[in-house]
Order: sequence, then C-alpha cells, then structure tokens
Amino acid sequence: MYTRINRESGHRAGRFVQRWGILLIAGVLLCGAWAYLTVAFTEQKQHLLAERQRELAQLNSAVTLQSSGLLKLAETHLRTLDRFLQANPRTNPRTDPHFVALADMLRKSSNGLIELRMVSVDGKLFYIPPPEGRSSGDVSDKAYFKAQLAPSGQNLYIGDPVQSRVTGRWGIPISWRLEAPVSGMLVMFAGIELERLFVMYEKLRLKPAGTITLINDKGIVLSRTPPDPALIGKNILTKAGFAKEYGAKAHDAFISDGSLSDGVKRVVSYERLDEYPVTVLVTEDVQDVLAPYYGRRNVTLTVSAGVTVALLLLAFFLQRFLRALNAAQKDLEHAARIDSLTGTLSRRTFLEIGSREFSRAHRYERPTVVLALDIDLFKKVNDTYGHGKGDAVLRECCAAWLTVLREQDYLGRLGGEEFCAILPETGLEGAWHVADRLRQVTAKLRFAGEYAEFGVTVSIGMATFTAADHQLSHVMERADKALYLAKKQGRNRVETVEPPAVLVMPEMAFS
Ligand code: GH3
Ligand code: MG
Ligand code: MG
Repeated sequence: MYTRINRESGHRAGRFVQRWGILLIAGVLLCGAWAYLTVAFTEQKQHLLAERQRELAQLNSAVTLQSSGLLKLAETHLRTLDRFLQANPRTNPRTDPHFVALADMLRKSSNGLIELRMVSVDGKLFYIPPPEGRSSGDVSDKAYFKAQLAPSGQNLYIGDPVQSRVTGRWGIPISWRLEAPVSGMLVMFAGIELERLFVMYEKLRLKPAGTITLINDKGIVLSRTPPDPALIGKNILTKAGFAKEYGAKAHDAFISDGSLSDGVKRVVSYERLDEYPVTVLVTEDVQDVLAPYYGRRNVTLTVSAGVTVALLLLAFFLQRFLRALNAAQKDLEHAARIDSLTGTLSRRTFLEIGSREFSRAHRYERPTVVLALDIDLFKKVNDTYGHGKGDAVLRECCAAWLTVLREQDYLGRLGGEEFCAILPETGLEGAWHVADRLRQVTAKLRFAGEYAEFGVTVSIGMATFTAADHQLSHVMERADKALYLAKKQGRNRVETVEPPAVLVMPEMAFS
C-alpha cells in the first residue's frame, strides 16, 4: 500500500550544506582571519625590533664617542705628564711643585673622573704628590705594571678592572710607559673610577632596564651600568651564546637571552672604539621595546576573540535555524501529502498519483479499478458516540482496509468519511473480491460505545478504466454513481454501473 512519503529529499551535498555549511564557511573564514592576524603580528614585531636596533645603534655611537673621548683625555693627561718629565729629566716628580701643579690641573680638568699616579721602576705606586713622600703600595704584580716591563712598542695599556687596595673602589687602570725613566719613575698611571663612570652612563642608558657596558678585546667587562658586581672583571665571551652573536663585526646588534646577568632578554647593540681595544654595548629590555606592540596586540586579540565567539555563535544559531526550517518544510510537505487523521494519502496527492496511474494504464492498456468507499450512516456514529469516537472509527476502518489492500494499491481520503482506492493491474472481477473483503473487514470491526459495542458498515462503488475514459475523473464519477447505487440498494454492499460488456469480460475492459 503506497502511503510512504520519502522524507529525505535533496542531494547529499545539499543536505551537508543544510547541516554544516554555515558553520563550515564561518570556520574557514575565521581560520583565514586568524592566520592573517598571526602573520601580521609576527611581521609587526620583527619590524619593531629591527627599527629599535637601528635606534639603539645611534645611541651606541653617541656613547662610543663619549667613551672614546674619555680614554683620549686619559691618554692626553699621561702624554702631557710624560712630556713634562722628558723636558725636565733631572727633576724629582715626587717633590717638583710644577709637576704636582700640572697633575692637579689635569685632574681637575676631568672633574676628578681620572686619577693620576706614577709607578717606580721597582713597582711602587706613588700618589702625586705622595703623602709624606712615601709609596702607597706595591703594584709590581699588577698586569698594568708588568705589561710595561716588556715594551711592545705601545706606551699605552688599558688593564682589567682592579679594586684599589687603599680605597676598595673599582677602577679601570690605564698605564703609560715614560719615554725614559725619570728619577726612578717608569710608569704614569691614570685610573678611571667606576663609581664616577656610572654617573656618566646612568644619564645615557635607556631606563628602566637598559644597560651600558664596556668590554675589552678579550671580553673582560670593564664597566657596567647599572653596576653589577658579578659582571665587573668577568669574561663574557666565555658564554657561548653571547660570543656567537658578538664580535663578528666592528658594530652590530642582536638579541641576548639575558643568561649573562639578570635573565632579562635584551636587544644588544655593540660598537668597537676605533683607537682603543674597547667595545661599548648598549642594550634595551625587549619587553620595553615591545610594550606598545603587546598593548596593541592584546587589544586586537581581545576584540578578535570576542568577534570570533560572536560569529561562531551566530553561525551556530543560523545553522540550527536552517536545520529547523528544513525539518519544518519537510513536515509541511509530509502533512500536505498524508492525511493526518487516517495516515492515508491526502486528496491532492491521491488525485496526482491517480492521474499518473490513469495515464500509465491508458498507455499500456493495463486493467485498473477505482473503488469509492463511504461509511454508512456515519453521521449517526458522530451523533451517538461523539466526534472523537467518529475519528477513531475512521482511523480503524482505514487501518483495517490497509491490511486488505496490496503494496501497489493506493488509498486516499477525499473528504469526511469518503475514501477512494485505486487498484492497478486489477480487473473488475478481482477488484470485486477485494471490495467485498473491504466490506467484510469493516463490518467485523467492533467499537466500544457508552453502553455497548457497536459496528459500522461501508458501501463501495466500483468502476474500471476503459479506453473510452479520457481522464481519471470520468472513472471516479462512475465509481461514485455505483456508490450511490449501493447506498440506494440498502448499504453495506459493493456495486458497479459498468455496461454489461465490461462486466462479462472484466479483464478486457480496454479491448
Ligand atoms: P450515508 O453516507 O450512509 O448516506 O450517511 P452518512 O451519515 O454517512 O452521510 P453524510 O455524508 O451526510 O454524513 C457524513 C458525516 O461525516 C457528516 C460529518 O459530520 C461527518 N464527518 C465528516 N468528516 C469527519 C471527520 O473528520 N470526523 C468525524 N468524526 N466525522 C466527520
Ligand atoms: Mg456516509
Ligand atoms: Mg458521505
């Protein structure tokens, strides 16, 4: 019996779009947007770092110039004192008031940043003038003195930082070998006190976490601002990572991991002095460099995350709405095709299918029968037992009829308690048996009434497709006439009004 309507309509691709399409498109678009954001941010970060390295290099040049000037000043002081002594070879620098005055003037010209002393041939250190004419200690073991004992053609020597035995303060020792010893003095000595140097560099460094460091060609730290006692005098080129980045060129920039000092990652710019074996390193905290970038990025990420969630939610609800809409449309289609009370075909669908069957039967000359069914005195059922009971009767009659009809037959509700069946590939005689069985199963049905059980009967009119019929309605009209006849003859009957020729040879109705 044909009442099954295919609820799964449309192509696979169409169904997929209905189920996942919007979410998928939203997902792909969002993935694309996020990929673009990631690339854009990475580029922006690298661009910012590169730009900052260039700016840092400019500051580095300024600091390098200043440091070079300081060393030049120390060298000039030492040369001046040497000239004085060479011009006065017989004087005693420990007592000569002119020499002392010259040294004093030079010291003052550097604002006390450069201390001047001298060392005798046997390594005794003398202040200028020496307090009570005595030496302030033995420095014969110091590198800056020993370097001058083995002349290398260079008068100037910049030593590793040393801590004063007298004051305990750190300084950079610069020694100068006199052209010729004068009154037992061999070396002039200029000390740059680190504490004073820090003051100068503190003004220049990039606060809060930027640093300025001087190292010599061996990698020994001469000075570091802000001061870090752990670094002064240490060789930082022994740190593999640092050495790898540093020193390939006279000036360059790189990013250090901070493992050398406080663990802070820094952008490092370095530049070697032209005239002295010293390199200046200027750094800035990577976090400080990137702070504005992170600020912008975080705002953008927060907004983007919000938009992403909103779009995903929107896509999710749109998708759900589309699915619901689709299901509702299918339900509507189903409702239009199937009678909701009895589950038989709706009038419209029945007539559509009937017309198709009519054409097919006509073209191939196949015997086909139409049955018009009408429940007898149904009004009375309604009046006696109520409309609800009437509905139940209709439902059960249809269910009973469906057990009689074959898979290829059609049953439709044309209205009220009037039904119609089409029996394809069936002649009048065969159809009569079917109709009579329909009549019998109806009469056997029992329904519970208020006080007692009751039953109903059905009258059936029968008509067959003939070559003279041009459309389905012609056959249905004859079935209706036959039904009217059945009612007239006393109900609970099967009747036909087909002409005798058709009745004699029901299977040959088309011939
Ligand atoms: P007969 O066909 O034997 O001449 O008598 P009848 O009483 O069946 O005739 P009629 O066609 O006048 O009555 C049909 C009744 O069916 C009238 C209407 O109230 C009832 N009816 C129509 N549709 C429905 C329905 O969906 N449910 C119920 N319970 N009753 C319905
Ligand atoms: Mg009736
Ligand atoms: Mg009726």
